[in-house]
Amino acid sequence: MVATITMPRLLQIGGGALGEVGSLLARLGIKRPLIVTDRFMESSGLLAKLTDRLDQAKVKWRVYADTVPDPTDTVVEAGAKFLAEGDHDGLLALGGGSPIDTAKAISVLAANGGKMRDYKVPNEIPKAGLPLVAIPTTAGTGSEVTRFTVITDTERDEKMLIMGLACCPAAAIVDYELTLSKPWRLTADTGIDSLTHAIEAYVSKRASPFTDGVARSAMALIARNLRTACREPDNRKAREAMMLGSMQAGMAFSNSSVCLVHGMSRPIGAFFHVPHGLSNAMLLPEITAFSAPAALERYADCARAMGIAAEGEGNQSAVARLLDELRGLNADLRVPTPKDYGIDEKRYRELMPTMASQALASGSPGNNPRVPTAEEIVELYGRVYA
Ligand code: NAD
Repeated sequence: MVATITMPRLLQIGGGALGEVGSLLARLGIKRPLIVTDRFMESSGLLAKLTDRLDQAKVKWRVYADTVPDPTDTVVEAGAKFLAEGDHDGLLALGGGSPIDTAKAISVLAANGGKMRDYKVPNEIPKAGLPLVAIPTTAGTGSEVTRFTVITDTERDEKMLIMGLACCPAAAIVDYELTLSKPWRLTADTGIDSLTHAIEAYVSKRASPFTDGVARSAMALIARNLRTACREPDNRKAREAMMLGSMQAGMAFSNSSVCLVHGMSRPIGAFFHVPHGLSNAMLLPEITAFSAPAALERYADCARAMGIAAEGEGNQSAVARLLDELRGLNADLRVPTPKDYGIDEKRYRELMPTMASQALASGSPGNNPRVPTAEEIVELYGRVYA
């Protein structure tokens, strides 16, 4: 098997890496970036940390801070217009997956024109746009190293997956110190998101020896540090491990794929506005139970990588431990069911067939070790509602 691996050209990793933004931009030849970020980054002072460094390096910048969680096509279009009004030679994204994905989509739209939905998978993106430097502040989506962006089609209430080399950042600054301000709930949700990435990348039909290595490393880091990062927000070792783990999980799933959990999670996010990591977490134990019989050894390996099963332990027993751990993690991190989250049961059940067809259309379930039918996905949606 020949694996195709897509990755940023340059990664600056470690506490204080943000301080090197000036020299990183100089190496890439970017002199006039547009910063894409959100209002929280602006009001919390995180944006000022970046712009102070840019000023010191005499880099000219402008800011587009109107991004929203779970970015929409309308916000991307406004951002592309704002980009065109300036004289920019690159983009800098500061924030969680939402500003990073927005910046990717702005770059794609500015270079290719049309509407965001024109580039939804399986459509190709003809041209790469301005280079993007991603600076994540959650740990996280891994978007700083992935070739994906997820944008909501506001007319159709659909979270679209957009994929290609054009969506892969040119560089990333991965500085865990930017995550120290994350509150408990955000730490939990984004942490489970990255664990889901690593597990799905490892069990995916498209996994390769390269993605296996980074996925296992990510699972080991995340499983051992997620609860600590939630309990002790100032624990720098735990924050560093989570940041490194989420980036590695991003490298893994970007080069293999995500599977059924993500396929089913996007429609829940789009219709009911559940944060992405949380909707993954609602699904992860049940979907793992559904999928594991088709790839027992791979799921058992996940338990071993996470340090919850011994190396010599049999597959059945290791998988049982994995399911216990995923359920225990949800309990410890107070992950609600869709019902407990307040999602209206009638509307949820009415939408289950639409959500199932959107999940299948995204292509992600096709990479799952056990590929479900639309009816099985409906049944799984019903089972997790609780
Ligand atoms: P986010 O970017 O939506 O941010 C959520 C909230 O957390 C925002 O209010 C933000 O201001 C705040 N926040 C961010 N960093 C903070 C910090 N350090 N301290 C305090 N608050 C902070 O959250 P996310 O989970 O990182 O991103 C979710 C988005 O990423 C979704 O749209 C999802 O679909 C997408 N995603 C993309 C990929 C990809 O490969 N492109 C992968 C997974 C998820």
